[in-house]
Amino acid sequence: MDVSLRKYPYPYSAMLAICSDLDETPNKDIYFETARYLNTTEETLLGKGVGLEVGNTIYFDMPEHNFSYTNTDDDGREKIHQLIQSGHIDCFHSFGDFVNSRTRIEECWSEIQRGPRKIEVWVDHAQAPTNLDDDIMEGSGAVNGSKAFHADMTVQTGALPFIWKGRVTSIVAQNSSRCYAAILNKKNILKSTKTILLEFIKGWLARLGNVKYAMHKENKVIRKTRLIDGSSVYEFMRCNPSCGGVSSNDKARGIHHVLTKKVLDTLVKQEGASVLYSHLGKVFSVDEPFKDETRQAFELLAEYQQKKKILTTTTRRLLGYIRTYEALTYIIKRVNDETHIYLSTDFVGEDLQGLTLYVKQPQKTKLYVNNQLINEIVINPPDTTKKPSISVPWISLSLPKLSK
Ligand SMILES: [Zn+2]
Repeated sequence: MDVSLRKYPYPYSAMLAICSDLDETPNKDIYFETARYLNTTEETLLGKGVGLEVGNTIYFDMPEHNFSYTNTDDDGREKIHQLIQSGHIDCFHSFGDFVNSRTRIEECWSEIQRGPRKIEVWVDHAQAPTNLDDDIMEGSGAVNGSKAFHADMTVQTGALPFIWKGRVTSIVAQNSSRCYAAILNKKNILKSTKTILLEFIKGWLARLGNVKYAMHKENKVIRKTRLIDGSSVYEFMRCNPSCGGVSSNDKARGIHHVLTKKVLDTLVKQEGASVLYSHLGKVFSVDEPFKDETRQAFELLAEYQQKKKILTTTTRRLLGYIRTYEALTYIIKRVNDETHIYLSTDFVGEDLQGLTLYVKQPQKTKLYVNNQLINEIVINPPDTTKKPSISVPWISLSLPKLSK
């Protein structure tokens, strides 16, 4: 076969999204400075930025001292809208603890939807009534007839295709074989062995027919499934390869135990994709949100990107890429001495970015998507497979200057 799909955008071997729930983010400065720290190389309140691509979540009605759309001021809300439009706020984190009526849900939904770019990912939060999972996350967002029912408006319309329903694995690399190595910690044999054992049991329970852990066994980032009201969704699984288990080090205080060389090397070696479960708003303190070890962890991740090993992106982009990659089909036509690739997909636009195909003669290859010629093709030199390739360009998101 002269043409084959590369698993990830050239030249990367793996993909990672830091999917951070905003729980307990103390104030708007920390929320927006976190975006600037992660997405630019500027000096920020948290240190010198690392220039990655990382999104964030948002919710509405929450207790005091928790940053949220409702709790912040007009300036904060304006900035939230700017970041939704730039792609840097890419996930809902439920509608918030206190949202439990159709009227309030409709207000929140229409308020947040006012710009052209929409949030298309939903992450259940704690025991929020609007959660879409009725099992692990105890929500009634998809329970027809309940006060917090909203799936008819948010999911069935196709507006929210990607849903997180509470599943977290200790395995670092999804879309790859299950590898326990990264969890084992020599300094903490007892804890890490227990975590491995637990993850192992989840795999076996799934083999025995346990529905709750079916995703763990498959070790896939996304799967097609249905909510309780029957609406069809892409469910995604997050990972937290902390040796103490999925609920330890799942925050800014401790992320340096997760973004380690061992974990990142495993992700690369396994050619995996990971949506990392974390809470970056759970900082050390308001005055010193990150410590040196926090910054070193993000700098390490940035190094893997600079060395073209791991592509770090937002949750929405990672899920969109994987969905496109898994669902597309193509046929090859020979026209004189040229190779014409006809790719068919339901997911076009930004979701095609980064798509890479190994071809024999890149200069003599044309790419058509749904019968339309793609003009902006990049030609890549051979990678470790010694094969050259062509790509649809991956265009990095750019963080807007947040108005004061
Ligand atoms: Zn939460």
